[in-house]
Amino acid sequence: MPDEIGKESAVTNTPVDARSVAASWLVEFERVLSKRKIDGILSLFTQDGSWRDLVAFSWHIHSWANPKQIAAALENHLESIGPHDFHLDARAAPGCVPRAGRDVIEAFYTFATRTGKGEGVVRLVCDLDGQYRAWTLLTALNSIQGHEAHIGANQREHSDFDDGFGGTGYITNRKRHLRYSETEPTVIIVGAGQAGLSVAARLRMLGIDALVIDRKARIGDNWRDRYRGLRLHTETPVNHLPYLPFPETSPRFMSGAMFGDWLESYASIMELTVWTGTEFLGGEYNDEAERWSVRLRRADGTIRTLRPKYLVIATGLSDLPNIPQIKGIGAYEGQACHSSQFKCLDDYTGKSAVVFGAGTSGIDVAHDLCKRGAKVTVVQRGPMTVVNLDPTALVQFSLFSCGIPTEICDLMANADPYPVLLKTHKELTNSIRLQDKQLIDDLERAGFRTHYGMDDTGNVIQYFRSGGGYYLNVGGAELIIEGKIQVRQFEEVSHFTKDQIVWSNGSADTVDLVVFATGYKNFTAVLDAWFGTDVAETIGQVWGFDQGGELSNMYKRTEQPGVWFIGGGVLHSRSYSLYLALQIQACELGLMPIRLGELDRA
Ligand SMILES: Cc1cc2nc3c(=O)[nH]c(=O)nc-3n(C[C@H](O)[C@H](O)[C@H](O)COP(=O)(O)OP(=O)(O)OC[C@H]3O[C@@H](n4cnc5c(N)ncnc54)[C@H](O)[C@@H]3O)c2cc1C
Repeated sequence: MPDEIGKESAVTNTPVDARSVAASWLVEFERVLSKRKIDGILSLFTQDGSWRDLVAFSWHIHSWANPKQIAAALENHLESIGPHDFHLDARAAPGCVPRAGRDVIEAFYTFATRTGKGEGVVRLVCDLDGQYRAWTLLTALNSIQGHEAHIGANQREHSDFDDGFGGTGYITNRKRHLRYSETEPTVIIVGAGQAGLSVAARLRMLGIDALVIDRKARIGDNWRDRYRGLRLHTETPVNHLPYLPFPETSPRFMSGAMFGDWLESYASIMELTVWTGTEFLGGEYNDEAERWSVRLRRADGTIRTLRPKYLVIATGLSDLPNIPQIKGIGAYEGQACHSSQFKCLDDYTGKSAVVFGAGTSGIDVAHDLCKRGAKVTVVQRGPMTVVNLDPTALVQFSLFSCGIPTEICDLMANADPYPVLLKTHKELTNSIRLQDKQLIDDLERAGFRTHYGMDDTGNVIQYFRSGGGYYLNVGGAELIIEGKIQVRQFEEVSHFTKDQIVWSNGSADTVDLVVFATGYKNFTAVLDAWFGTDVAETIGQVWGFDQGGELSNMYKRTEQPGVWFIGGGVLHSRSYSLYLALQIQACELGLMPIRLGELDRA
């Protein structure tokens, strides 16, 4: 953890006691909040201060990017929320640390509202007048009073499937519940990947009935069915699922298949209700009843209609393959598939493959094929952000491997309001650029185009903006540099014949296999197919930043009542599943409406 006695004050040059500065700021913050005087509250923020709220103050997810926006938000929410009881969080000592290019005092704290308990992070900087003011503030709801999750001190006496002596028994009761022959689930979660299972576990611990469905035959097949060489890119401590950390025996990096097995075990241990082999086909919302009627195709082909109140879409965002139009591809007679359907054989000796797409999936598939003896060409459409995985990219998540409690790491990872998030990643990209300079120079020389995004914010912001656009190098870049994987630009492709790819300079190569690692279609196409154009348009963009600097329609109410989205990496699934589940719980308790209102859109 950071030092308690940290750097010197910029103004006074005297050592700073981070704990007492942070504690004093919290006391003053609570005092001015209780007086409900907006000016007084703003005087505790810097001129460029910003505030991120995860459901605690606004029952929504917001980045308030400047004091003006903070003032407007407080006008709207302060009275009803009634925040009080601010204390430093005993789990983590305040410390002096650099954040996004500034020296700050970073402190974790807890607080209470009229309805629940919250936690947060404040970053204080020493202003020109010597006063410490908040540069960033995070407020996050942790529980709703009287309805806390069944963990720790609130542990259940026994499972609700366990009806004791004289009862029908745990297994029979679970099986009966799984059938939903007499009941309707309150929530249906589409997708049993890490996102769907995380939110299902959270809801279960809040006592809210949720059914998870997945079209795959087994939980974890979403990982098992990907290319065989897949390893997770983040170290194991980043990837704990809610309530159940990995054992210490786990490897530092897990294979995709091993993680798939873990997901299957997780669902069983957390007593989640999952229908596998079940495809979500679509549904309609009844505005009056505030319920969905959804159609599910079961493994045996029968269609089942269920009527949940809430639908949580956890399908890894869109899973509709995006395949570019290339002249003559219809005439090509060799094997061609999207990377999501690609099943790698053991040996490709003497075979020639073309992989379209130069992001993570594209380079990983090319890497695997190359190692299995194929002659591989990668076709690149636009510049790519390439970062060496180890050690360069791992630094982005290093705090998870320092022994700090995962919940504190999650707060830290979520603490940046949008303007600061961009600054953080610009700073990070500056050091990545230096660290990986040789790699990037060599790649460029090999004809592979690179960049760090439109505003030099690097791979993480690329991911938030588009869900891709980067490659974390695990050896594929070296194969390109050594010429073992050839690179061509998309403009160089002329057309396909029945067994060849013809380049724009007239040369041609025989091709046995084409893999399109070209990503997925916009989510709107999926929503259109499931719910019709009106609902798809009502919801609008999913993922990518919205005007307020939050991920569009992710983890919060959307304009379509009863539809929620969750996704991202395991880290996002773990932490945001809490806020999503708390919002559904708040709707169920009547603490917030199912529909968005004007204040939520502000
Ligand atoms: C090489 C590689 C390494 C990666 N490493 C990491 C890492 O280290 N850490 C990390 O956090 N992330 C990593 N990722 C990213 C990871 O792929 C995604 O974060 C993750 O799969 C998204 O999880 P999810 O639960 O949102 O969706 P998915 O895992 O895609 O699960 C969605 C599920 O929805 C189901 N589904 C879709 N449509 C329907 C339907 N109509 N009806 C029923 N079911 C449906 C699918 O079958 C699927 O099982 C990596 C990805 C790759 C390719």
